Amino acid sequence: MNSVAIIGGGITGLTAAFRLRQKNIPVTVYEASPRVGGVIQTLRQGGYLAEFGPNSILETSPLIGALIRDVGLEHRRWYSDPRAENRYIVRGGKPVLLPGSPFAFLLTPLFSPAAKLRLLAEPFIHRSAEAREESLADFVTRRIGTEFLDYAINPFVAGVYAGDPHRLSVKHAFPKLYALEQKYGSLILGQVLGARERRRRAEVSKDRAKKLSFDDGLQVLTDTLGERLSDALRLNTPVGRFQQAPDGWKVVLRPGGSEEIHDHVAVVYAGPAHRLPEIELSANRYLNWSPLSQIHYPPVASVVLGFRREVVAHPLDGFGMLIPEVERFNILGTLFSSSLFPNRAPEGHVTLTSYIGGTRHPDLALQSPEELVRLTLEDLKVILGVSGEPLFTYTTLFPKAIPQYEVGYGRFKNLMNDIEEKVPGFFLAGNYRFGISLGDSIVSGHQVADKVSDYLRRAIKDGTMSPCDVSCALTA
Ligand SMILES: Cc1cc2nc3c(=O)[nH]c(=O)nc-3n(C[C@H](O)[C@H](O)[C@H](O)COP(=O)(O)OP(=O)(O)OC[C@H]3O[C@@H](n4cnc5c(N)ncnc54)[C@H](O)[C@@H]3O)c2cc1C
Repeated sequence: MNSVAIIGGGITGLTAAFRLRQKNIPVTVYEASPRVGGVIQTLRQGGYLAEFGPNSILETSPLIGALIRDVGLEHRRWYSDPRAENRYIVRGGKPVLLPGSPFAFLLTPLFSPAAKLRLLAEPFIHRSAEAREESLADFVTRRIGTEFLDYAINPFVAGVYAGDPHRLSVKHAFPKLYALEQKYGSLILGQVLGARERRRRAEVSKDRAKKLSFDDGLQVLTDTLGERLSDALRLNTPVGRFQQAPDGWKVVLRPGGSEEIHDHVAVVYAGPAHRLPEIELSANRYLNWSPLSQIHYPPVASVVLGFRREVVAHPLDGFGMLIPEVERFNILGTLFSSSLFPNRAPEGHVTLTSYIGGTRHPDLALQSPEELVRLTLEDLKVILGVSGEPLFTYTTLFPKAIPQYEVGYGRFKNLMNDIEEKVPGFFLAGNYRFGISLGDSIVSGHQVADKVSDYLRRAIKDGTMSPCDVSCALTA
């Protein structure tokens, strides 16, 4: 009985493996590094809790709650403090509350009266031709004007993608926004009319979705998935080559310089897209996957700082703050981590998590840990009124952090579809396909498990695979 090979033990690969197991399909997870979790990593030290990468999951799909339930973690799941819903955008060097209602929007100093009036014209602006691929910046400027680009979209995109709206494709990076214009001809009308459709799909819009983590941080989820899959996990095992075989796939491993070959009925690649071209492919059909190395993944550094409460003047009554590029600071934004979830800092202390780099300032992310802390402190002093030194510091560099769905990304998506079509039994899943968030990655892992089990059932039915090659349970 051969298993399905899952390459990559991040949240996507672990979700796919866990779901396949639930379907009685055997799996083997090959992970290049010594630990599971990928970019999810949590450290608890001296009463502070530092998330190196992601901080929370937005519960946008019922599949996220289902995974947490099935893995047995509902009792350890924490939703963020409802008092931490406030979001700040920096304008004129100071955090300004992002308006949360139409009335607050009318009164906010974040946007000028002219920018607010400009919004009234939005429903009357023509939709763009479907064939023309626009950058997010062009799309937003055309529909709602430059001030919203500078003080709403630019900081939002820095917070989500660490990206640049002038380079991101509205069609590929924000498909729901793009679809609103295509379907309703207006973002404002679409927001109102689309609510019914979202309810029907049991989908929650990102601005209304609940944020969650776990009592000991996000790593609780990947560690627990890793424990559930421990007998199927191979750590420190980078995959070097895939070879198509008459009855499935041979996966060639290169642990510590030696070579091992394993037979598998199917392969799921759940590593980063830019690393796939490092893996050799011998398949029956010619395929060139080297273009995937061109997907832009800018570097991002996270800087977690712990302070005594009294040295931070700002009330920290919210989720965090985002910084527009036009404000010319070093950091992209800061999460008020200890306001979001309890126990992220010792009593009387606070934890702030800032991000540096991205497409905006790639060079800054590559600075030394001391310099990253200095650059962050320089900004936090001005914006949040920090007047003392941090008692806890932790910096992490992600040299290739998040895939940017830039204008022209369609050619990469087409290539991924082509790979799955031309080489049966080979699947691609991860944050480079259907969205970059943790929620998107969980959904991607779940969906690829469904695709693999459908493929195996079909192969058994067609007689190209014998039932107990995979799992006798599949024929039941
Ligand atoms: C700094 C940062 C902050 C973020 N913040 C948030 C947030 O707050 N909320 C949110 O929703 N999302 C956030 N994201 C995005 C989200 O965390 C990621 O998109 C998601 O975790 C990706 O998971 P993955 O499993 O697809 O990939 P990864 O986590 O990258 O895992 C891929 C795994 O594949 C392994 N691998 C690579 N090559 C091979 C090989 N040849 N053989 C075997 N294994 C291999 C790697 O070692 C790695 O473990 C953030 C991302 C970053 C970088």
